[in-house]
Amino acid sequence: MKALTFSLLISLLFFCACQKNKPVPVSDNFDLVQLADGVYACINKTGGKAICNAGIVDLGDATLVFDPFLSPVVAEELLRAIEALGLPPVKYVVNSHYHNDHIRGNQVFSDEVKIISTPATAELIRKHEPQELEAEKGYAPRQRAFFDSLVQHYSGDTTARPYQALKMWQAYFEVLTESIGNIKTRVPNTLFEKKKTLEGTNRAVELYCFGKGHTTGDLVMYVPDQEILFSGDLVFVGMHPYMADGFAGEWLSYLDTLQNFDTKHLVPGHGDVSTPAAIPVMKDYLKMVDQKARILVDAGLPESSVDTVRIPEPYDKWWFDRFFNINMHFMYGRFSQKADN
Ligand SMILES: [Zn+2]
Repeated sequence: MKALTFSLLISLLFFCACQKNKPVPVSDNFDLVQLADGVYACINKTGGKAICNAGIVDLGDATLVFDPFLSPVVAEELLRAIEALGLPPVKYVVNSHYHNDHIRGNQVFSDEVKIISTPATAELIRKHEPQELEAEKGYAPRQRAFFDSLVQHYSGDTTARPYQALKMWQAYFEVLTESIGNIKTRVPNTLFEKKKTLEGTNRAVELYCFGKGHTTGDLVMYVPDQEILFSGDLVFVGMHPYMADGFAGEWLSYLDTLQNFDTKHLVPGHGDVSTPAAIPVMKDYLKMVDQKARILVDAGLPESSVDTVRIPEPYDKWWFDRFFNINMHFMYGRFSQKADN
């Protein structure tokens, strides 16, 4: 009965969304945004437990899921949404890269589902996930308690950004804490190096890897018939990207390549659905961090000088502002190593 009610509700909301072209509130954790017939972006809500964005593509005889979230519980919500939309069974899950928020939903899909990534991503998941999970046992509950306390004692405007930012981090550490002992790492079993096409009866999607960027071996997904690009974390929209597992120079080249795609909609790894205009914005951010870190190293200033650098406009209004300092330290480290050699 509950399932039926949920299904009817989704259908109604979905219908409304089609009429108004607005996000569909299928869950407390993500909005389902229809970009074209059979193509959806699943956008993490502020304070939602999806954490990253996912994608759903109806291939005709099969459904594909792109980046099934941090939380297996929220990945189950994704599965229920697919069912409620009346889409065919999931046959493919794609992991854009190895970061936990893009892969931990893998475990909710049946054994027959192909989990697709680049070889580098599969290897990084195999290597890093056991270490990550072990480390999270220690720090996740502490961080959760810290953010719980900050949220509880917050006395300002709860609609304002500082409070919303606390809610985002609280949600992240809540998921990690709830996941302790519940993650069964599912390493991708279908690997490709540079390009893979998945053919369905209604459409094909193309997966590409153009080398290193946000991590080693990120992939992007392109839906050619609708000109929709799912960029994974190579593009963040309105948020500081995380650069500390990345390769700033190669990342810029990767983004140059993505600018050559004919793209109507770009679905970033984090942030709202955008257009190709988000790509040069991301390039400018990477260049900005590069330049600011380089100035400090060239001037012979110590690493502690990084902490005095304020976030410049317009990036001071972006989410995930704690990443700016991390990114600056990372780039300072790279340049100072080079300077020592
Ligand atoms: Zn990432």
